[in-house]
Amino acid sequence: MTCEETGVLLSGLLDGRLSDEQAAALNAHLDGCPHCRRELEQLRRLEGIMKGLSLSQLPDQVWDEHWRQVYNRLERNAGYILAGAGATVLLCYALYAACREWLQDAGIPLAVRAGCALLALGMAVLTASTVREKLLTFRHDRYKEIQR
Ligand SMILES: [Zn+2]
Repeated sequence: MTCEETGVLLSGLLDGRLSDEQAAALNAHLDGCPHCRRELEQLRRLEGIMKGLSLSQLPDQVWDEHWRQVYNRLERNAGYILAGAGATVLLCYALYAACREWLQDAGIPLAVRAGCALLALGMAVLTASTVREKLLTFRHDRYKEIQR
């Protein structure tokens, strides 16, 4: 599990919404990652404050801090998606260019040319799938729908 993947799970852990499997994976990551432990502590503190006060009584400072963190996370996710999309485009183009040259070269055995084409197709599908998964995670971020 990466630090990026712990994001949604951390709040799930606090709400008790994780499966045993998810909780175990998250705890294993937390054991080795001070950064995510600190994030969990911040979430816990914020939740404590939320429980103690009604929403209208929350000091602006708490909200500012909270939304800055949410914004940072969204911004980082957007960066990953853009970089991933760019890498996909470049990779696909490079593979396409290499394959086109090879496919037209009758000196290269058919098996090698077919293998190259399949490899390029596979790589394109894999990268597209990774980017799509990242996009879905981004879209399902639980804070995204909330307007201040
Ligand atoms: Zn981490």
